[in-house]
Amino acid sequence: NKQVIFRDYIENYPKESDFSIKEKTIHLEVPKDSNGVLVKNLYLSCDPYMCLLMKKIKGPVVPSYTPCSVITGYGVARVLDSGHPNFKKGDLVWGTMGWEEYSLITKPEDLFKIDHTDVPLSYYTGILGMPGITAYAGFYEICAPKKGECVFVSAAAGAVGQLVGQFAKLMGCYVVGSAGSQQKVDLLKNKFGFDAAFNYKEEHDFDVALKRCFPDGIDIYFDNVGGKMLDAVLLNMRNHGRIALCGMISQYNLEQPEGVTNLMNPVYQRVRMEGFVVLDYYPLYAKFLDSVLPCIREEKIVYVEDVAEGLESGPAALVGLFSGRNVGKQVVAIARD
Ligand code: NDP
Repeated sequence: NKQVIFRDYIENYPKESDFSIKEKTIHLEVPKDSNGVLVKNLYLSCDPYMCLLMKKIKGPVVPSYTPCSVITGYGVARVLDSGHPNFKKGDLVWGTMGWEEYSLITKPEDLFKIDHTDVPLSYYTGILGMPGITAYAGFYEICAPKKGECVFVSAAAGAVGQLVGQFAKLMGCYVVGSAGSQQKVDLLKNKFGFDAAFNYKEEHDFDVALKRCFPDGIDIYFDNVGGKMLDAVLLNMRNHGRIALCGMISQYNLEQPEGVTNLMNPVYQRVRMEGFVVLDYYPLYAKFLDSVLPCIREEKIVYVEDVAEGLESGPAALVGLFSGRNVGKQVVAIARD
């Protein structure tokens, strides 16, 4: 069983050398008297929260990784053996797996069964998995959008952002995204239907860029990056605007996180800012599938993935999230069936 092993806690940016690949012999069956399931992993998901688990801080939601152990993350897998009444050999599932070829899942209750296979299986790491529910809950539940509103999305070409932008367009909003390359800006405008987009790496002053895109201000900000962009957005919110604090990737690896200085503005503008954690919204999963699956089938929503091949390519793919190497949802394909 080939595995990706986490070497030791890190202080700032993760590097490929923070991981090693090891082989471990395992039995391809569930131990007797266990109600676990043994799965063969097919696709692994690279998600920004994973770098936070590489730090020796008490994870506020999920505990940190243990040095010299296999790392975990979301994935799609096929059940090979089951001691649990809800799962049988051959079932497809998504949920938290080890970064390894085969995983023994000891709490199978947390897995989601995959019933719809007419869409790519890898989608269950993205649009139909954790990032999909994040975009759905963050946009519809936290931002409470209305037709015609002005929506800004940062890290807009990523796993979550590309969906938020498309949900907003389906709602009849005016949507602008920021991303870190011309290629991504083109994708936002030409593939995902954003009304406008800009490359934040080429803007000297985010306030100026936002005023150019939103001369009358922003109603909704879906924040994936935090830091200076959030601070500039606070200068451009309209009265009764809403900000979904989804993530702050620009801050995760800084020794000294940047301060947000414009916090009086949301007071004057009566802006509601709300953080959320996707885990709280998993009970919405069935409703989410009912609304998003038809959109995929009817091609009302498209989804771009960046697929790295082989378990060995996993560490570079994961680390690449923090330099924007991924174009779309970063997936690692380790087996096809
Ligand atoms: P992405 O697929 O968007 O990948 C990360 C992207 O972030 C990169 O491609 C890069 O794009 C951008 N980025 C990296 N470093 C910086 C930086 N310093 N400044 C600005 N942008 C940067 O990731 P996800 O869509 O999976 O996640 C987006 C956000 O949502 C993250 O903050 C994540 O932690 C958060 N999240 C929160 C959840 C919750 O429950 N609240 C659940 C899931 C995700 P670019 O080229 O544009 O710079």
